[in-house]
Amino acid sequence: MTSFNYDYLIVGSGLFGAVFAHEATKAGKKCLVIDKRKHAGGNVYCKEMEGINVHWYGAHIFHTNDKEIWDYVNQFADFNRYTNSPVANYNGELYNLPFNMNTFYKLWGTKTPAEAKQKIAEQIVDLHITEPKNLEEQALKLVGTDIYEKLIKYYTEKQWGRKATELPAFIIKRLPVRFTYDNNYFNDKYQGIPVGGYNKIIEGLLEGIEIRLDTDFFANREELSLLADKIVFTGKIDEYYNYQFGELEYRSLKFEVETLEEENYQGNAVINYTDPETPYTRIIEHKHFEFGTQPKTVITKEYSLQASKGVEPYYPINDEKNTAIIKKYQDLAKTETNVIFGGRLAEYRYYDMHQVIGSALAKAKWSLKMLNFNGL
Ligand code: FAD
Ligand code: UDP
Repeated sequence: MTSFNYDYLIVGSGLFGAVFAHEATKAGKKCLVIDKRKHAGGNVYCKEMEGINVHWYGAHIFHTNDKEIWDYVNQFADFNRYTNSPVANYNGELYNLPFNMNTFYKLWGTKTPAEAKQKIAEQIVDLHITEPKNLEEQALKLVGTDIYEKLIKYYTEKQWGRKATELPAFIIKRLPVRFTYDNNYFNDKYQGIPVGGYNKIIEGLLEGIEIRLDTDFFANREELSLLADKIVFTGKIDEYYNYQFGELEYRSLKFEVETLEEENYQGNAVINYTDPETPYTRIIEHKHFEFGTQPKTVITKEYSLQASKGVEPYYPINDEKNTAIIKKYQDLAKTETNVIFGGRLAEYRYYDMHQVIGSALAKAKWSLKMLNFNGL
């Protein structure tokens, strides 16, 4: 029987890899974590600039309904009371998000839920949408034509680079529609930003675990695979299988970070640009995540683009074509006995952080049980 240096080789130090490594180490297993980036943490990584924790890969707001997951992350950092309340800018007109009584009042002057519901009903009565087949139909059914035109259509088409009629309905169902004056972007019971940024959580998870940065699994695949009994893979599943069933499509992002010589640039952490002309989708002003009072400020303009080889993938595109491709990779993945696929890229799922943590905890539990069962 071969004896390996490690029980697990964990490819990727994002939340999935870090939680998995933490749980396996806690259970007495030896882990090696590798990451092709020069830092750990994947997309939750924060870089300190001007005393501000800059969410380097876009705004990350932690939210969950699951008390266990909330307690889990709170082991590693305290969370502040930040509540996400983005504002949409449509050609200079400002609207509160998510879609709620404040949005409806600004648009139509409606003051009661009954008036707002009446307005939406009037707008969609002739559309006869019963079972929404795509994002456009789902959005129209939920909020009517005015909101669809001003706040959804162009933002969505910029974000995804395709028509709203070609996107799945579930994407827009992420956002609440409320007939109360409540600008909280999420419905979850628990929400906040880790005080001191997300790096604290990643450092806590990876404490005492060997990690090699700037190390791409595919640059040295055979040698790395021989190091461990099992592989936990959190990179692109199509790349893992040499694109044999074709390439999965992803949306990528470009982040333009600027330091500004002023204390408060936009008065909110997140402003979405929902018109078609503004080339970026949103501007993030990072200090507002932690109620910062630093003399300067740091903002990020976020642009959406098509991912291609060599460009970072961020969002899986769960349309029909890609769903058919991922199904083939998943069938192949099921036949593996020594490889566990997890996280946003390997599972090709539009996961939030709490979902990635939940998935990593479940997969680690199952894998550790199997290892112990096999007497290892
Ligand atoms: P990742 O964080 O992508 O980690 C994967 C890691 O694997 C990376 O570090 C990568 O470098 C490494 N890797 C990949 N391939 C290889 C290889 N071949 N060799 C070595 N290393 C490799 N979630 C929320 O809950 N709230 C939010 O507000 C929120 N906002 C978001 C905003 C943006 C712009 C994006 C893109 C995502 C957002 N998310 C949010 C989702 C959140 O980022 C993810 O759920 C989570 O970070 C995914 O963790 P992961 O470990 O699956 O993947
Ligand atoms: N969306 C929109 N207008 C907005 C914000 C979001 O139409 O001002 C749509 C868009 O299709 C987006 C989806 O809602 O992809 C989900 O939004 P969310 O803010 O959850 O996206 P993420 O933060 O994951 O990029």
